[in-house]
Amino acid sequence: MDLALPAPPLTLPAGLILHRSAVELARQEHLVRALAEVLTAAPPMHTRVKGGGMTSAAMTNCGQAGWWSDAKGYRYERTNPSTGKSWPAMPAEFLRIAEEVVADSPWPDFTPDACLVNHYAAGAKMGLHQDKDEADFSQPIVTVSLGDSADWLIGGAKRTDKAVAFRVNSGDVLLMGGSARMLFHGVRKIHPGTSPLAGIAGRYSLTFRRAL
Ligand code: FE
Repeated sequence: MDLALPAPPLTLPAGLILHRSAVELARQEHLVRALAEVLTAAPPMHTRVKGGGMTSAAMTNCGQAGWWSDAKGYRYERTNPSTGKSWPAMPAEFLRIAEEVVADSPWPDFTPDACLVNHYAAGAKMGLHQDKDEADFSQPIVTVSLGDSADWLIGGAKRTDKAVAFRVNSGDVLLMGGSARMLFHGVRKIHPGTSPLAGIAGRYSLTFRRAL
């Protein structure tokens, strides 16, 4: 018999939790409106990476601190180094979604003080890296995807460990904590034209952190 079987489900490492379609479409649209205000106040920029070169994703932040990269290295800054102004406040809708998605997770008390927003246009990617500039690694990183789908990469504790890709779609939420907190991860590919949201080009990731 020739049956078309679905692909076997990907087993994600413990501590990496994927909630498919956690944010319904109307709520994604609400997030996009709040995001537009953040982008106006702090337009995304391509930042320098260690070893030279620039990120292909453009970045900005909201909240009490923002992740930043330049010749001085990777760090969180309380003001936007490109403007000298405070980062825009984290929209209430952002904070609400982040707190809701951790409520039944191993990190129910997670309260983000920073949200790094990455914008991936068609062709943009993010090489394997660890998120290690935060003060407290017992706190997770929570990622909300908006716009185009992406192939997200999860690797191991070393950069050279094998990484596997899985697709994340608009409205999906990823929690990365516990024993997965320091795993290498990245974005391999954006799938242009897959966004269910009007008025968004490419993919935005809202990545919530406890930075300070
Ligand atoms: Fe990361």
